[in-house]
Amino acid sequence: MTLHQDRKIWGWGLSTYCVPPPLLDVARAFLSARLGRELPPPRPVPTLDALTMPPPVRAIPSELADLATTDRFARALHTYGKSFRDVVRALDGDFSCAPDWVAFPKSEADLVRILALADREHVAVIPFGGGSSVVGGITADAETRASYSAVLSLDLGHLNQLLEVDRASRCVRVQAGTYGPALEQQLRPHGYTLRHYPQSFEFSTVGGWIATRAGGHFATLYTHIDDLLQSLRMVTPQGIVETRRLPGNGAGPEPNRLLLGSEGALGVISEAWLRVQDLPRFRASCTVRFPSFAAGAAACQRLSQSGLYPANARLIERDEALFMGAGDGETHILVLGFESALESQKDKLHSALSLCTALGGQPGRPKVRDEDHADPAASDEAAEQWKQSFVRAPYLRDELCRLGLCCETFETCTTWANFPRLDAAVRAAAQAVLDAECGGGVLTCRFTHLYPDGPAPYYTVIGLPQPGQQLAVWDAVKAAVSQALIDCGATITHHHAVGKDHRRFYERQVGPLALQMVLGAKRAVDPLGIMNPGTLVPALCSPKEKT
Ligand SMILES: Cc1cc2nc3c(=O)[nH]c(=O)nc-3n(C[C@H](O)[C@H](O)[C@H](O)COP(=O)(O)OP(=O)(O)OC[C@H]3O[C@@H](n4cnc5c(N)ncnc54)[C@H](O)[C@@H]3O)c2cc1C
Repeated sequence: MTLHQDRKIWGWGLSTYCVPPPLLDVARAFLSARLGRELPPPRPVPTLDALTMPPPVRAIPSELADLATTDRFARALHTYGKSFRDVVRALDGDFSCAPDWVAFPKSEADLVRILALADREHVAVIPFGGGSSVVGGITADAETRASYSAVLSLDLGHLNQLLEVDRASRCVRVQAGTYGPALEQQLRPHGYTLRHYPQSFEFSTVGGWIATRAGGHFATLYTHIDDLLQSLRMVTPQGIVETRRLPGNGAGPEPNRLLLGSEGALGVISEAWLRVQDLPRFRASCTVRFPSFAAGAAACQRLSQSGLYPANARLIERDEALFMGAGDGETHILVLGFESALESQKDKLHSALSLCTALGGQPGRPKVRDEDHADPAASDEAAEQWKQSFVRAPYLRDELCRLGLCCETFETCTTWANFPRLDAAVRAAAQAVLDAECGGGVLTCRFTHLYPDGPAPYYTVIGLPQPGQQLAVWDAVKAAVSQALIDCGATITHHHAVGKDHRRFYERQVGPLALQMVLGAKRAVDPLGIMNPGTLVPALCSPKEKT
């Protein structure tokens, strides 16, 4: 019954993967030099037997015996997402918030059965896709454990099939537990791709993407799952909600928009119709170096408003580029790429490079590859290095956590007009904490997505706190930068979602009335509040009301 035996219980990805030692050595040397201190040796990783994990509060009811387990590995794997906080708590061996049961439904009928029992017996249900949440979305907090008769993690991993292809409309029907690679593998024989590549692609699912409004790594146009979703089915404690397959819709508030980003708090997405695309065959890319981040940002602004719509346009600050092995540490780099299923992208790249040059950019050697069906995007060396380190980065982050570093990211989105003010405020807020708590630290920025009206900046924070202070320091940084984001009118998240970690800032961002509207939707489909309590919106039950 248990899936994912090859996965790491304390962090990202596969337990068998090792970060190449030379890469780790470079990262250590860079950080020691930048932080002005030797880094401590890595702490040991926790073993399953040694974890602090309470026994399940109750035995599994007989009706669920064929679907659920109390297996220790399964409970450990479903305890945490993949944020820095999650990794540090896992390294501490603290699995006190493990779910009591983990269920592996095999059909939508199983989902209906599980939610009926959970509603009747007041069991908290936490939908689990790939478990890559970085906002506490799949972790039961102490209040949830105290308020419900048990906590059940609902793993959609068996619901992993492509069910139907509508070639005329170029749409596919997919089960929600399908992981990124399995989806692309099933689409490929049809000549299609979803073309949705979050960095967590390998270990995240269609249902998780929809539930969190994930953003893929393409910088412009269709990159958010919102644009790729045509319709969905959601099982709620009050029944099944199904939206219509409509290319466009002017009838009232859009139901898909209500369910997108609902983070398991309204129900469980069982399947979805998605808009797919033809596989790209034409590619053109280049790396452009800028003397200042501001010059690169100006080029990004112009690019975003040029109508060229590059598939990739990541502006990376020089320290981050150096750290990722993609830069010289002197210049800021823009990784620029175009792709199409239809026509050569050479001219578009040329236009984009002219625009960058006019704003002080120095292009490297452009790479153009036409009609290349099988190969991944052709690109220059810096871009290729960046792509590889993009995939390895989460494994490296885990290793940096083991060295006692405070190492985490946060992201947002704002208008071009507001970006300079926001950037200054965020940097000041983070730096003040790093200086006070770590005697300094590294803060870098990159743009992950570009819109004609503004960028999505993504910040990385690295500091070396006193031993035992990793979580306290990150919590202080996070509180300070979140406050700055909200005070400056930006969003608390561009694509990482709200979860539990961002909830109080989300409440400030949307205001009390809008929050009541979301809560109203929750009360309509989940009146007893069993669905992912405390995630996105406040829990409907408190410990006093425990039945
Ligand atoms: C290294 C790393 C890189 C990342 N990069 C990106 C990125 O590039 N872009 C991006 O957008 N995010 C990124 N994330 C965040 C995360 O991967 C996304 O939020 C992703 O969409 C979560 O998918 P999942 O299947 O892992 O969902 P989970 O983590 O399992 O769940 C996330 C939330 O969705 C709910 N949920 C999951 N499945 C369902 C379902 N079927 N029905 C209802 N609710 C459900 C859960 O209850 C939870 O609240 C990254 C995370 C990590 C660790």
